Amino acid sequence: MTTIADNLARIRDRIAAACAKAGRDPAGVTLVAVSKLNPAEAVIEALAAGQTVFGENRVQEAQSKFPALRATHPDLRLHIIGGLQTNKARDAVEVADVIESLDRPRLAASLAAAIKATGRTPGLMVQVNTGDEPQKAGIPRAEAEAFCNTCRDEYGLTLSGLMCIPPAEADPAPHFAFLADLAARQNLPLLSMGMSGDFETAIALGATHVRVGTAIFGSRVPGG
Ligand SMILES: *Cc1c(COP(=O)(O)O)cnc(C)c1O
Repeated sequence: MTTIADNLARIRDRIAAACAKAGRDPAGVTLVAVSKLNPAEAVIEALAAGQTVFGENRVQEAQSKFPALRATHPDLRLHIIGGLQTNKARDAVEVADVIESLDRPRLAASLAAAIKATGRTPGLMVQVNTGDEPQKAGIPRAEAEAFCNTCRDEYGLTLSGLMCIPPAEADPAPHFAFLADLAARQNLPLLSMGMSGDFETAIALGATHVRVGTAIFGSRVPGG
């Protein structure tokens, strides 16, 4: 039987190998363990195996699992990686260390207000819809550069990086390259890109954060 600890060890090895191949320091790549739809017990198992950074795509699920774990694991870091409703902005600011899904002006306004009200300052990444897919969250690619400027100039937000989820059937490499170029132009140090199926490609193209779910926690399909 494969355990979460085994899977984590294997992913860390693969990250190290991808970094070696790309001539990069593995310390420059953070593994975000995506624990969505997995119980708190799975997170606890990962914490016991030394994993400290987690990703959740729903604020409510994050609230139900993580605050209780912070007391015993002060180094725990939580990233919100899913589409964020404006009315959840304050909850997200309160529960998260990093919000990766900033993708529209109204959300920027809500996050700015929540940051002001709470005094909490989570890291912020702009999610770019690099495939311009209508059903997907993220600022359209042609508007991304202007949106980053708007976040800073109009809403006073400090951005730390960019995030993308390439189209499922496409070669992800051009999408990762586009995001890396945009981050360089915008002077943003962090790049969250790459998931279970493509994180090695993302590392080759500069990812600083890879978001890996199923390869660590197994299938999220109930009973699967
Ligand atoms: C679920 C999810 C992941 C993890 O995907 P896997 O294919 O399970 O590794 C990464 N990023 C986002 C935004 C997700 O929602």
